[in-house]
Amino acid sequence: MKKLSFLLICLFSGLFSFAQTHDTQVENVINTVNLDSLIYQLRNLSGEDEVVISGETTTIEHRVSNWGNNLAAQYIMESLQAIGLETTLDTYTLDGQNVYAVQPGTVYPDEYYMICGHYDAVDYYCADDNASGTAAVIEAARILSTMEFEYSIIYALWDEEEIGLIGSADYAARAASNGDVIHSVINMDMISWDQDEDMVVELHSSTNANSTQLADYIVEINEIYELNTVPTIELPGTSASDHSSFWNNGYSSVLVIEEYYGGDFNPHYHTELDRIDILNMDYFFETSKLCIGSLASMCVPILNTSTVEMPETEDGKIEIYPNPASSSSRINFYLEKSQYTEVTLLNNMGQTISTLHQGEMKDIIHQIELPLEALSQGLYFIKLETANFSKTEKLMVK
Ligand SMILES: [Zn+2]
Repeated sequence: MKKLSFLLICLFSGLFSFAQTHDTQVENVINTVNLDSLIYQLRNLSGEDEVVISGETTTIEHRVSNWGNNLAAQYIMESLQAIGLETTLDTYTLDGQNVYAVQPGTVYPDEYYMICGHYDAVDYYCADDNASGTAAVIEAARILSTMEFEYSIIYALWDEEEIGLIGSADYAARAASNGDVIHSVINMDMISWDQDEDMVVELHSSTNANSTQLADYIVEINEIYELNTVPTIELPGTSASDHSSFWNNGYSSVLVIEEYYGGDFNPHYHTELDRIDILNMDYFFETSKLCIGSLASMCVPILNTSTVEMPETEDGKIEIYPNPASSSSRINFYLEKSQYTEVTLLNNMGQTISTLHQGEMKDIIHQIELPLEALSQGLYFIKLETANFSKTEKLMVK
């Protein structure tokens, strides 16, 4: 891989503040990642199955840029368009074509998080390298496009990675010169080989532009949502994939990859033997969940209250999830109308430990994220009081 010099530009990476707590919607995203969808895309992209492109039934024979890989680019563009995303086929040179789609955020539309991978290849099939990462980007788009997030999301697939990170370098340099605010970039390249079945996923990081915080964040996602992968941080990580194009332009970025340093690395990569039948689908599934869950969490899902069913209640209701819980719980309050309320946390003797809310509760569905680390194990109560009624629910801290 082409050796790239490191420029320490930290202009666009200042706003990287993370509050890591369990979020029911992120959990829903993780549970919605579907192995059949991932395999469907992996097979299509690696030429195992027929596909329909521009209305014609055909097969993506290969994705090699020097042999002409426009068919693959067109397939990816149509797949993202079918999801309902505004998609760009970015022909940055005569031969080079990146494909990307943008999902606008509702609170910070001009601030972005990105998930990406390269779709080009060096031989026929090349399922692990990198139909796997490409399929996971499309799966992210399939799921997250049905939701609303505070931040904008870019789903990107790069061309000409294999001949020197050309597509991503073009994009990242232009983004930097435009002053685009991309808070972080998750690059997936080869995420489906795990012969020793230890589920180790390497996160290749850098001291550049808060990339270490991004790697730490992904590790925390694995813990909070009790995923089955074993993420390990590699610092300094390799620069041999598209994430380093973002490092070079001052952006926070991490490579997610099978054990490239650890030794359990696909020995058939860059050959036509790299086909789906030699890959580990369970590992592919779990690694995709880790990446897609991390992206969803960073972009901050917005609770769509119109789809939340109001529980049958006379005046109000409390829901606590998870419960029992250890690190944090989310408490939903459902009220018939906006009104003055007081919410308190009580111990098992009924004594007030802290006041969680005091004042007008303006929304009929109100959420409080309650950190539990400071509490010892045992039974607690959440009490909601208004002028007219009070409700109490049990909370078990484990
Ligand atoms: Zn690759």
